Amino acid sequence: LAELRGDPDDGPGIREVEAAWSRVKPTPVAAPRLIAHSREMAQTLGFSEDDVRSPRFAQVFGGNALLPGMDPFAANYGGHQFGHWAGQLGDGRAITLGETRDAQGRRWELQLKGAGPTPYSRSADGRAVLRSSIREFLCSEAMHHLGIPTTRALSLVGTGEPVVRDMFYDGNAKEEPGAIVCRVSPSFIRFGNFELPYSREDLEGLQSLVDFCIRRDFPELRGQGATLYGDWFATVAERTASLMAHWMRVGFVHGVMNTDNLSILGLTIDYGPYGWIDAFDPDWTPNTTDAGGRRYRFSWQPKIAYWNLTMLAHAVSPLFGENVDPLNAALQRYMDAYVAADRANTAGKLGLREASDTDIEAIQSLNSLLHVAEVDMTLFYRALSRFDPDADIPAQLDGPGDLFGHAFYDADRRYDTLPVFHDWLQGYAARLQADAWPADARRAAMDAVNPKYVLRNYLAQEAIDLAEQGDETRIAELLDVMRKPYDEQPGRERFAQKRPEWAKTKAGCSML
Ligand code: AMP
Ligand code: MG
Ligand code: MG
Repeated sequence: LAELRGDPDDGPGIREVEAAWSRVKPTPVAAPRLIAHSREMAQTLGFSEDDVRSPRFAQVFGGNALLPGMDPFAANYGGHQFGHWAGQLGDGRAITLGETRDAQGRRWELQLKGAGPTPYSRSADGRAVLRSSIREFLCSEAMHHLGIPTTRALSLVGTGEPVVRDMFYDGNAKEEPGAIVCRVSPSFIRFGNFELPYSREDLEGLQSLVDFCIRRDFPELRGQGATLYGDWFATVAERTASLMAHWMRVGFVHGVMNTDNLSILGLTIDYGPYGWIDAFDPDWTPNTTDAGGRRYRFSWQPKIAYWNLTMLAHAVSPLFGENVDPLNAALQRYMDAYVAADRANTAGKLGLREASDTDIEAIQSLNSLLHVAEVDMTLFYRALSRFDPDADIPAQLDGPGDLFGHAFYDADRRYDTLPVFHDWLQGYAARLQADAWPADARRAAMDAVNPKYVLRNYLAQEAIDLAEQGDETRIAELLDVMRKPYDEQPGRERFAQKRPEWAKTKAGCSML
């Protein structure tokens, strides 16, 4: 743990763009202590397990010490929150320590979340509670193991200091333990980074930020001028489409898709509030402040991402002069890419070689059925790969070979919907027979897109409750389960169950 070794050719990073950042040091904490780390991320960055366990590691990633080569700063961005321009927003509680290169030459930025105030904190404290930090740490790594683009998490360090929050749904301020996550990403640039100079009519600043972002984060793009800018925006649009399709496939709800929380690289960024669909519900959101409008509900994510892209298109439009056709074409590419990815999801989730329009209608009616019947999304799709189209349907639905009973939350609803499920499965059996894909191959393909283990809200809450009582072992255990989300893990079925009744309300189960 000698130094943070960057590549001198990388230059100052985003610091070459004026007004896009401020130099700021983490504020030291009372007693930094490592609670958990990602061994994959540590290995990638060249930290040995001994490094990680050394007191110095907790000092550095708790914000009390800097390694040679670290020159911390906070980035400056604005954003649209809940559909309205909110002006300058942050980073109010994230401080980048520096950049490094891994053995394969990949560039990584290391950033502390919760390491104290920055010039963008306004009246807030720049801190994060243990609860939210556990959630961000675990979900970042769980998403990575699911194969979904995301910022990563290196470490979770307890600060030994309390943080006061009044957002735990009862309106009362409460002291909670503080923590700091070191998150890691090739880039933390958000849509909102571009919106800020646009809002200030700082076209020079806007252009240098776009040029910098393309050069550093999209080195594969060639060309120049409006052509290059058009290719760049189209690439951002396509990556965003792909990300949305991933979220919809696994039942992840981001919960706060403001433009400052959308990554220019199409990564999942800024965990909390977020949540996972248990009982299938297209209208579910983990965001309690969004309770009325439900702008950030599960099923709206693809269209909200599109809306966010239109805000980014506005922000970068000055670079296109009179001709904004490339921006419109890229927005169309977003829709085409999403429709194609959604079709691939349908094929994967149902175990079909290819999905036709009729198959898309079939999965839509299945999802409506899952909603009405209150069925667990993850458990149902996982079980569907065990369905045998040549065997007796009532036996598999409701008889001795019952595949789906464990996925229902309500016995009455199950009973009432059995005939409809039967009809749906009858159509599905015929479709599988026509597809004639060998059962083993079909099951493997389905299991590769329908995870068995996801970071259910209640699983994270259990780890939080235990940690707050002094037992931090569940965090590492959950992380280990989430390493192989698509595998059967004998002996770990406890982590692949429907949510218990206590976790049904947000009062019992924090999503923040
Ligand atoms: P979010 O909706 O969580 O992305 O938060 C919006 C902005 O609020 C962030 O970009 C931060 O700059 C700021 N913020 C949130 N929490 C804090 C905090 N505890 N201290 C300072 N700034 C914060
Ligand atoms: Mg944010
Ligand atoms: Mg946040």
